[in-house]
Parts: sequence; structure tokens; C-alpha cells
Amino acid sequence: MRPTTATVRLDAIVSNYQLASRMAPGSKNIAVIKANAYGHGLVQVARALQGHAPALAVAFIDEAIQLREAGIDTPILVLQGIHHQDEIAEAEAADIWLMLHHKRQLEWVLSLNTPGPVTVWLKLDTGMHRLGLAPAELDGVCADLIASEKVHRDLVLCTHLASADDMDDPLTAQQISLVRSCAARHGLATSIANSAAILGWPESHADWNRPGYMLYGNSPGSSLDTGSFGLSPAMTLKSVIVATRCIAVGEGVGYNSRWVAQRPSKIGTIAIGYGDGYPRHAPNGTPVLVNGERVPLVGRVSMDALSVDLTDLEKAEAGDPVELWGQQLSVNEVASAAGTIGYQLLAGLTGRVPLDFIQD
Ligand SMILES: *Cc1c(COP(=O)(O)O)cnc(C)c1O
Repeated sequence: MRPTTATVRLDAIVSNYQLASRMAPGSKNIAVIKANAYGHGLVQVARALQGHAPALAVAFIDEAIQLREAGIDTPILVLQGIHHQDEIAEAEAADIWLMLHHKRQLEWVLSLNTPGPVTVWLKLDTGMHRLGLAPAELDGVCADLIASEKVHRDLVLCTHLASADDMDDPLTAQQISLVRSCAARHGLATSIANSAAILGWPESHADWNRPGYMLYGNSPGSSLDTGSFGLSPAMTLKSVIVATRCIAVGEGVGYNSRWVAQRPSKIGTIAIGYGDGYPRHAPNGTPVLVNGERVPLVGRVSMDALSVDLTDLEKAEAGDPVELWGQQLSVNEVASAAGTIGYQLLAGLTGRVPLDFIQD
């Protein structure tokens, strides 16, 4: 087996969850584990959070069913609700909570044949303009929902913040105030904060918060520093050097010789590539750790391999350990070099990389 794995420290996820709870002492925190728990293993992360998180959230109903089939009995909220009327019966049978964002979904629930009640969270569009009822629509549907015996009485009004990672954007305060006034008008519980808002916007903390990315130990925004909060990265993506070679000035590395040696150079090749989820668009110079030391990526990332410049690491040789991101090299830094965000790198890890779970 090739020595490329992602180790996942489940205890770090639990302690990051506890940190989210301490930062918002008046809120319940629903742990967001969509997209295979941001690449960390859906079922294993759900199990690790049992007894800590009062509820879990995923994006789609299939993810929730997968958790139920694995024996997870924690309440599960499906953030995009249902895509077809038939899914309501499935949700009800598996005791799954539904976040509903569209009138069509509400009509499906109100015309339910089964007795119910279904637990519903209502999504309000307060400025992100992606999903959610408009505030004016809410007035029309709220009374019907509250009156219906198909729907559980404890409705939660929810909104998603568009720019909580930008401490200077005035939109966040407007969104918070709009959802709070709508919730007050209808006497509803509220849920607003994602990770960035838990860390940066205490005024967004409400009955329920929805931390996702921070649970995996990285800061959700460039203006919010991980270290200062005490988050601990749960995943370390590891491999080893599988070959080294020396090349002369003027010789290139990789497809289309995107990098050309300016000095006699020692090149190391690592058995990981974009087929594993390492970003293909990572430029020359993207940091990689070899024996704990930073070296620059050189040449194009290929499907199964990438190369680094080992010229300054005299002793480096085949078999030496490599960290692509993790505890010593922030996934956010690698992402930023590659023009993306850590969320995409973690969620984009492919099934070819085995996850190695470490309990403590
Ligand atoms: C993904 C998601 C979250 C979690 O966001 P993070 O930035 O990862 O904390 C919260 N709420 C909704 C609706 C989401 O889709």
C-alpha cells in the first residue's frame, strides 16, 4: 500500500466542538458534518460527537440516512431539506429534522399523509440570496405551519450569513437584525451563526449555532487566526518521498516543464496528486513539509504525484516523511497558495486516500 494517508484525530474534533460551545455559552451547537464531515469521515465523526453535540447537520437526506443506518441516533438536521415529496416519509421514519427554504417544500409538509409531526427549521433569506424564504413570504406561511399538526411546535428560524469571515462587512449586522426581528414577530427560536460568526460575531449567537469548519480545527476566515482561538487541526495529510534525482540548470520538472532549475537541484517526488484531492492549480512555491521542514512545490501537480525542491535539505532522501497539510502546515496556507479555501481542500479529499482514525 502506498504510504499516503490522512490521519484524523477524533479527540481534536471533540475538543474543537467544546471550544465552539465555550465561545457561545448561551447557545446549543449543532455540529455540521456534511460532505463526509468536511473530508474527515461522516460516521466516525458522528460517533465521536455522540454525547457532546445535541444534534448533527448534513446537507442532504442521503447523508442523514447513512448516519441512521450506521446506528447514530442523535437528532439530525438536513440543511437543504427535501428535494421530493416522497422524502418526507423517509425523514419522518428516520426522525430527521428538515430545514425548509422554499414554499414548495412547505406545501409538501402541510399536505403530508402520515400523522407527523415533522421537526422543521425555516430558512430565511436575509441577504445571501442563495436559499431561503423572503421576509415577506414568511408572514404568509408561519401561521399555517404553527397551526398544522403535521409540524412540530418548536419551529426554528434560521439564516445563513454571507460575509461573517469579513469583520468589516456591514451586511452581517443587517442580516442578524433582520432575522432577529422576524423571529421576534413570530415568536420563533433562532439560528444564525456558522463558524466565522461563532468566533467573530458574538451578537449572532442564538438558540442554536451551526459550527462546521472550525470543528476540524482551522480558522474559517483569513482575518480570524486559528492559533489565537486554540483550535487544533484534526486532519494531517501525510505521504513520503518515493524518489529523488539531481537535475542540471535549465532542466524542467513535470508536465510542460512549468518549473525549470536555476541552479543544480535535487528534486523529490511524492506519491500524491490531484487524484487524491491535492489541488492541481497549486503554483510553484506552495509549501510542503519534508522531515518537518518547508520546501517549495515545483512543477505541475499530476494525478498521482507531485514534486518538491529538496536542494536545501541535504539529507532528504526516499522514504522521508511528508506533510501536505495538517498540524504543522495549515491547510488554509496551502489553500491560499492555490487560490482557494481550506474548505475546498478538506471536502475535496478523494476516496482514494485512506482515513486513519486516531482516538487520543
Ligand atoms: C455548511 C453550513 C454551515 C457551517 O458553516 P461553516 O462555515 O463550515 O461553519 C452552517 N449553516 C449552513 C446552512 C451550512 O450550509
